[in-house]
Amino acid sequence: MIALTLDVDWAPDFAIDLAAQTLREHQVRATWFVTHRSPAVERLAAEQDLFELGIHPNFLPGSSHGSTPEAVLDACMAMVPEARSMRTHGLVQSTGIFDLVMARTPIRADVSLLLPRARHLTPHAWRRGGRSLTRLPYFWADDVEMESARPSWDVAPLLEAPGLKIFAFHPIHVALNSADFGPYERLKCEVESLRGATARHVEARAHHGPGTRSAFTEVVAHLRGAGRKIADLHDGPGTP
Ligand SMILES: [Zn+2]
Repeated sequence: MIALTLDVDWAPDFAIDLAAQTLREHQVRATWFVTHRSPAVERLAAEQDLFELGIHPNFLPGSSHGSTPEAVLDACMAMVPEARSMRTHGLVQSTGIFDLVMARTPIRADVSLLLPRARHLTPHAWRRGGRSLTRLPYFWADDVEMESARPSWDVAPLLEAPGLKIFAFHPIHVALNSADFGPYERLKCEVESLRGATARHVEARAHHGPGTRSAFTEVVAHLRGAGRKIADLHDGPGTP
């Protein structure tokens, strides 16, 4: 079971379109955890066979989604009313947040538990107060790979590992082909807001050689014509 997810993280539209086009070309299903609405996000929403939209609530101080957990969840669900899955921005989580998610929203799957390169992962039913949330641990993230002691962009061995294999990419790191945070930090200094970055800005900063885009391309090529959305893993046979 391999699933590809993307944290939109306020990426510029051209970066969302770039990753979406690669997925489209290879007919690979994916789940996008959305932080805002934009024309590129509308294009994703229009392709329901291929793409699932989930929420990416930001519970950190200064969040543009709201100043309380309730306000953050309400804003995210207003943005993506059809969402049934989530990954929290910065992986902020607590029993209180999960209680609120289960009581206040139709979200039934959470993908906020990162266990890098862990094998034999399986979905887990988190049950409290008569409610249940399926927790789907994920095992690879582009930004965490960048910060690891020895980043490896050869994902082929991971694709063959046993168990649930959920990959997390960020459209801006796919566009930059990031292999470390240097180009991304320099880009952020150059532009007023990340969403305002243009393809020209990003191309000038893009990394050449193995990086996030080459890993993304490899996963997409492997999944050609297939891939699972988070909803497929949650609703499909064998899940709790
Ligand atoms: Zn995020």
